Amino acid sequence: MLILKERSESAELRTYRSLNARMDLARSDQKQCDYLESGYEGEKIFDGWVEHAGEGLILNDLLFVTGGSHYQMDSLYIAPQKIYLFEVKNMYGDHYIEKEEWISCGAKTEVKNPILQLKRCESLLRRQLQILKCSLPVEAYVVFVNPHFHLYHAPLHSPMIFPSQWDRFSQRLKNIRMQQNLHSELAEKLLSLHVEKSPYERRPDFRFEELRKGIVCGVCGRLGMEVIGVTNLICGKCKSSERFKTGLLRSLEEFRLLFPDKQVTTNQMYEWCGGLKDKRAIQRVLSENLHRIGYGPGSQFIEKE
Ligand SMILES: [Zn+2]
Repeated sequence: MLILKERSESAELRTYRSLNARMDLARSDQKQCDYLESGYEGEKIFDGWVEHAGEGLILNDLLFVTGGSHYQMDSLYIAPQKIYLFEVKNMYGDHYIEKEEWISCGAKTEVKNPILQLKRCESLLRRQLQILKCSLPVEAYVVFVNPHFHLYHAPLHSPMIFPSQWDRFSQRLKNIRMQQNLHSELAEKLLSLHVEKSPYERRPDFRFEELRKGIVCGVCGRLGMEVIGVTNLICGKCKSSERFKTGLLRSLEEFRLLFPDKQVTTNQMYEWCGGLKDKRAIQRVLSENLHRIGYGPGSQFIEKE
């Protein structure tokens, strides 16, 4: 199979990760952070599964707007005769269905019914394909990737694939032979419809002054990189090390994600990184990687053309 659109962490997940390291999240924000993290983990498990499943074209993580409605699709698998839509769920623990409601056995709380979400996506995607004058049928499934998930009263013939069923399902995909370049035009069209920003994205309230400063470890995600030697950093928590430059550029990306409206200056980065290194060292890295406007420590850095 051919991956035409790779999966990467969403801006929302990256934002929550960064804030999780730099502030004490409110309970609901912590929940959202964990939810996004486990969702992403599940999607990576699914990617590993689908990697060995046939020769279809794969588009991951698409966000479309059709008829004014936004919808997100975890994975599209384009085969010669059909388009498969996969919604990936990394749910955990025992659940049961009562009427339309999905209930978690442990907490006895209602959880979002993934089938309703799937049906909505499926019908919007069908509409979109009609607009593109594409007559391929759509087959949509919720794929459960967590082996520690169980669903009581799951109706027969429902569009769900459980971990124990994936191998047999993927055998079907494997048996499909792709002709070269088939549907690559359709895939390109679909790719061009992808929009970046979801209106459903949540963002906790935060201000620069309130956040803990320093460099977040690229390996364990915790705050607390320390300077070691002349050019290196070491994580005080997991002991992984890297070049100062690498850590600074990562912190810069994080800063831009959280504060898209703030100017990037040496002083600002010096403060953001918790005064780990002197301003000269920071300025040197910024000058090498960005375009500088003005002089002195207050000069602004912008993306190189
Ligand atoms: Zn670490």
